[in-house]
Amino acid sequence: MRRQLAGAAVASTALAGLLLAGALAPTAAAAPPEMPGKDLSKHVTGKRVLKHVEAFQDIADANGGSRAMGTAGYEASAAYVESVLRKSGYTPERQYFTFEDVVIDVLSLTAAGIDVPGPLYPGEFAPQTPEGGLTGPIVEPSDELKHGCTTDDWSGVDATDGVALVSRGTCSFGEKVLAASTAGADAVIIYNNESGPLNPTLGAEFPEAVPTVGISLEAAEEIFDALADGGEPVATYDYQSHVEEFESFNVLASTRTGDPDNVVMLGAHLDSVEDGPGINDNGTGSAAILETAVQLARSGPLNNQVRFAWWGAEEVGLVGSTHYVNDLAADDPDELDRIATYLNFDMVGSPNYTIGVYDANESTYEAPVPVPGGSVETEAIFTDYFDSIGQPWVDSPFSGRSDYQAFINNGIPASGLFTGADAIKTEEEAQIFGGTAGLPLDPNYHTPADDITNVDLTALDIMSRAIGHAAQRLAWSTETINGVAPGGPGNS
Ligand SMILES: [Zn+2]
Repeated sequence: MRRQLAGAAVASTALAGLLLAGALAPTAAAAPPEMPGKDLSKHVTGKRVLKHVEAFQDIADANGGSRAMGTAGYEASAAYVESVLRKSGYTPERQYFTFEDVVIDVLSLTAAGIDVPGPLYPGEFAPQTPEGGLTGPIVEPSDELKHGCTTDDWSGVDATDGVALVSRGTCSFGEKVLAASTAGADAVIIYNNESGPLNPTLGAEFPEAVPTVGISLEAAEEIFDALADGGEPVATYDYQSHVEEFESFNVLASTRTGDPDNVVMLGAHLDSVEDGPGINDNGTGSAAILETAVQLARSGPLNNQVRFAWWGAEEVGLVGSTHYVNDLAADDPDELDRIATYLNFDMVGSPNYTIGVYDANESTYEAPVPVPGGSVETEAIFTDYFDSIGQPWVDSPFSGRSDYQAFINNGIPASGLFTGADAIKTEEEAQIFGGTAGLPLDPNYHTPADDITNVDLTALDIMSRAIGHAAQRLAWSTETINGVAPGGPGNS
């Protein structure tokens, strides 16, 4: 079992305000004159995209229910994408890369006589336990909320050689671990303070750090129930892992026409998590850009070259896309400069969806990462389209927590679409998009239940058409983004 790294970060969002058509849309150049070629928003349809999504489901069914990095399911997914591309006249290429990843050998937690239910997440940057695990009395901080942020919160508690049981909240996970170990604890269990699993990070390694594991609120409640029923207040945490080198690959393909000096890139990760077929995450995004490639190949000569990327190893840390960008930055920076903008599609068919556009102009969310110039104008390509057809949309945090991260870290503008993962739908969103308030946008996120029944066809259709439109619009002109006019200098 491999440790779920960054790809699994909880995409929690607090939606400050909803944007109905046009209110706070990023300003963009006036609507362009009629674009040449057929209107791809009429051809890249949910129905056509669904065919590819179904193919990914069949592939998962035929390969043990997973399309994760390093599996036969991933290989078959890539072969499928390549065969469809070749039929449309593309010459797809595989870009191989190797990387190190943590492999978990043992991971278990017992407390008060019960096996603590998973998922268990070892704290990032926390050490592993000795062989056989660590056993000690269960100790809780003395502060009311059990947040254990400072040594004061442990006053009056003898935590020597104990296993600390601490709640999420108020301070960072690293501060909790430092306070507990300073108080004498040998290990720390951190439980979520809201429903759902907890994947804690200590932020960095530090000498006082002790083995730490994140559990859900539900699991913590089971421990408290067991203690209340007289269970022995003792816990054993066992975590053994090793680092292993892995190899995987990206699939890349570019249009035959269009200026190779002014490239528009579309990307979607092709791999799933290990324990699931990854149909919404991210069979939908992979399928939508695949059908866009098919339809774009039939829409006549282009001004700008369009490059498609199916990223590998996203679920274990955005590895494929990061390799692609870093490799160019190191060995061929001019090629990086030729990329006008990057569009990311990671989950575009969530069952309890919202129609989300990455919020480059920060009209709802402050971006915790750099927002390269041109990103706002790229966002406008989507929001202008949605406004022009009266389709409500909302901002989605420009968080960098998907494959556009490496691009924006290297100053390349980016945007994209997202229908939601484990963020909870609000009343307002339910009023606009339907579905159920109070439930996650994708209740089956990163589970075996993320299969073909976990895709909303209305969302898939809305997003597929928007992706088709954006690809065609930018293949025609990136002038609003980087000043390169259609058919102008540098547009052969
Ligand atoms: Zn994903």
